[in-house]
Formats: sequence, C-alpha cells, structure tokens
Amino acid sequence: MIGSEIDNLIIAIAKLPGLGRRSAQRIALHLLKNKEFSLHPLVKSLQEADGKIVDCVDCGNIDMTSPCSICRDHKRDKKSICLVQDISDLWAFERTGFYKGLYHVLGGALSAIDGIGIDELNLNSLINKLEKKQIKEVIFALGATIEGQTTSHVIVDKIQKYNVEITRLAQGVPIGGEVHYLDENTLNAAFQARKKIT
Ligand SMILES: [Zn+2]
Repeated sequence: MIGSEIDNLIIAIAKLPGLGRRSAQRIALHLLKNKEFSLHPLVKSLQEADGKIVDCVDCGNIDMTSPCSICRDHKRDKKSICLVQDISDLWAFERTGFYKGLYHVLGGALSAIDGIGIDELNLNSLINKLEKKQIKEVIFALGATIEGQTTSHVIVDKIQKYNVEITRLAQGVPIGGEVHYLDENTLNAAFQARKKIT
C-alpha cells in the first residue's frame, strides 16, 4: 500500500509530458531514495523557477525578467522576427547561435483536436510590433506538420497588410540524410524548393 503523500507525488510526476505512471513511480522512488543528491536540488530548482521565472511580455519567451534578455539585447537585429511554436524551438535556434534577430513564441499551433484556436495563440504583441512598423521581416519557423502549416497560412493572412517581408524555413533533405529514406512529402518539398548550383 502506497502512502497518500507518495501517491500524490507519483500522480504529480505522471502529469509531466512523456511520463506514464510506471515511469513516475520509478522517478518518485529514485527521488525519495536519493534525497540529498536528487530530491533536494530538484525542490530548490523548482522553487526558484516558480518564484523567479516569468513570461516575456514582448515575445512569449521565459526568463528572469520581462522583457527577456533576448528582447533587451541591443546587439540583436530588432527588425527581424523569427516566429516559432514553442520555447523549445527558440532554444534550438539559440543553440546554433547563427540567428541574431528577435523571436516571437506562439505557444502552440492551431489544432481542432486540442481545442487551440487563433485566440489561444500569443499573437497580440506581434501585431503591436507590426503596427508600430518596427519590423522588416517575419521568418516563419513553425513545424512542417499540418497544424504548423495551417497556422502559418492563417497568420500570413493576418499580417500581410503590414507590408513586411514574410519568409519561411526551407523544407527538404536533412543534412546527412539519404534521398531514398525520405517520405514522399519531404521529397516533393525538397524537389519544389531546389536551387540553382551554378
Ligand atoms: Zn522576449
């Protein structure tokens, strides 16, 4: 018989993305058996994250301050905005370090199944920036999924009138990828987006 506190812990862990009850039980046991090295640092990090990390009012990123450190960075190109679905996508760009503009995090993509409509997406501050004519280019970096592409179409329709350059990431053969492993849609997208070599 599991005590109710332990059960509550397992239920809380099982609510995390990608974890079921069995993994949650394993994690809970690990934490409880390794209090000093696992449980205590985790509790401390969670409390700090809960108390100090806020949403950026400008872009939807999370940071210790709002506006976030990217939005406040004077060295970044404030005329370029890279539109991403989630903060993890922003992190992926930041890991590479080649992009020096700003971001805008939508917080998801349109999805009838998940009940995410246009009002659920973080769009207002993007429209505000476009209205103030601060932006030259919006780079669409949404997922190459049906939801991502539908979301792109709807947002392009909304922002076209602001007279900004609208671009999107190329789709096609991944670096290191073999052509015969590609699915038909990827191969088709790569073929359509072919570039002149000479
Ligand atoms: Zn920001």
